[in-house]
This record gives sequence, C-alpha cells and structure tokens, in this order.
Amino acid sequence: MAHPYHHAQSSVRKWGGQVDDYLPIHAWFDESKKIVADFRHRALRHHAEGIFLAEQIFGTTITTSGGCQIPVRWIGEQHVTEDLGHIPSAADWLRQIQPRPWMNRSQRLSRQLVAQL
Ligand SMILES: [Zn+2]
Repeated sequence: MAHPYHHAQSSVRKWGGQVDDYLPIHAWFDESKKIVADFRHRALRHHAEGIFLAEQIFGTTITTSGGCQIPVRWIGEQHVTEDLGHIPSAADWLRQIQPRPWMNRSQRLSRQLVAQL
C-alpha cells in the first residue's frame, strides 16, 4: 500500500515542485487509515466525490514551490488511480456494504419532536 509520501513523490515526477507541495493532499486521502488500517479505509475518500471534496478543502489549484499551478483534482485523480487502477464512484463503494439489521432500526420520533415538525 503506497504511503502518502510516495504518492507525493509521484506527483513531483509528474508536475515538478517538491514533496511538501503535494503531501497534505495525499495525507488527507489516506487519513482514513486511522479508522480502518487496511484497504477498506479507501471507501471513505478514494472515489470521485472524494476528489471533489479535496478540491473544496484545498482549493481549485495549488501553487508548487516551482511556481506552477496544479489542479487539486489532478492530484486526487492521480492518488486514487495509483491506489485502485481507476476512479470509482462513492456509490460503487456503498453498494458493497452487506446490509445488517442494526443499519435500519429506526425508532419512533418523540411526540415533542413530531409536534415541532
Ligand atoms: Zn490512498
């Protein structure tokens, strides 16, 4: 499994600059390893919506130490493609969840809450 540092080295080879220019974005994609320390962590951010979310967080572009502007989406697409070979949708990941009874155990709303609705 590639470390964010190695993804950042790959970005440098593609677009120039330094590892530190790209490392925060790659680290953000893999931050979900603190929840599940195996490949399943990728379900949280390694998809098309995750790439667009990275753009919202880091901006449309970053400026490398070499002065080049690089679209954040390009960096996200690079990361996800290097890990998965393609860019899935979030729905592709969610469809793999095996439904369990606790996932759909709705409770009645309290009367007080219903009165407010
Ligand atoms: Zn990753």
